[in-house]
Amino acid sequence: MAFIDELKIFIKAGHGGHGVERWLHEKFRDKGGPAGGNGGKGGDVYLHAVRNVGLLQKYAHKDEFVAQNGEAGRNRSQYGRNGEDLFIEMPVGSIVTNLSTGEVFKLDNDGEDVLILRGGQGGLGNEHFKGPENQRPIETTNGKPGQEAYFHIELELIADAGFIGFPNAGKSSLLNALTNANSKIGSYQFTTLEPHLGSMHGVILADIPGLIEGASEGKGLGHKFLKHIRRTRMLIHCIALDEEGIRERYDAIRKELGEFDQSLLQKPELIVLTKLDEVDEDSIKKARKELPKESNIIAVSVLEEESVKKLGETISTLISH
Ligand code: GDP
Ligand code: MG
Repeated sequence: MAFIDELKIFIKAGHGGHGVERWLHEKFRDKGGPAGGNGGKGGDVYLHAVRNVGLLQKYAHKDEFVAQNGEAGRNRSQYGRNGEDLFIEMPVGSIVTNLSTGEVFKLDNDGEDVLILRGGQGGLGNEHFKGPENQRPIETTNGKPGQEAYFHIELELIADAGFIGFPNAGKSSLLNALTNANSKIGSYQFTTLEPHLGSMHGVILADIPGLIEGASEGKGLGHKFLKHIRRTRMLIHCIALDEEGIRERYDAIRKELGEFDQSLLQKPELIVLTKLDEVDEDSIKKARKELPKESNIIAVSVLEEESVKKLGETISTLISH
């Protein structure tokens, strides 16, 4: 199942109800006065932010969203009912652009409602036009159309921490070990074709597909997903201990990040040396020495429960600071 993080849909607010021509005592027109009510307002359209990154999937085959129209005016000078407002659920992290006006709406907070389109005003009934000069008006006006537009929806995942690193570094395995997620695991490159989210006691972790050199120029799969880590609070940089060139791999990924967006380099980073079980004590010492002195480094193996637990605690501590 592909992860949908971009979508275009047509959205329309409700049409205003028409004003009507009515008379009191319809049977004795000449005795009764004008009594046509105004039409109701068309429903507005709101976006409602929810924590559900899979939501756009549901909308993939939906062409349009339309709010309810206002009702036409009634007799005895009664207004028509307003159309109900439409609330469209969107995942937190959505960036929604009105393609007609260029307006951009960002959904950053769970539960927030954002007005994106206004319903049309209701029309006026003939009673409205009654005056000293015009005792028996027959005029009415029609309701106004609701606002409508095509919208572009883009999802930027908001995770607390994002796993980065070369393919095969052990990112998916760690995410699974730490959370309730079920990320695919494989010993070949690019297993993870989509980012996965997992929750570790409320801390949201994201598995970002492997970055490779040149990803920031659009090569490889990494580029498409780099945008997802823009808003994470920290990076978990995974480097496998069982391959040569620890520092080279570390620098290559940092270079990619920087070329995509300099601000990513400012984020707090935890370096996780993975596959601890595959190497001896000396290799770990050597790897630590190669890496920048001031960095946070932890060594883990998914096969060693204690080390995974310690990693989880370290991430939680760093997130809450
Ligand atoms: P990703 O590409 O960074 O997501 O890496 P994966 O999590 O898919 O892991 C790549 C391969 O390394 C898989 O075959 C895993 O079983 C293996 N692997 C991951 N972590 C460890 C570890 O701690 N020890 C060992 N021995 N193998 C691991
Ligand atoms: Mg993976």
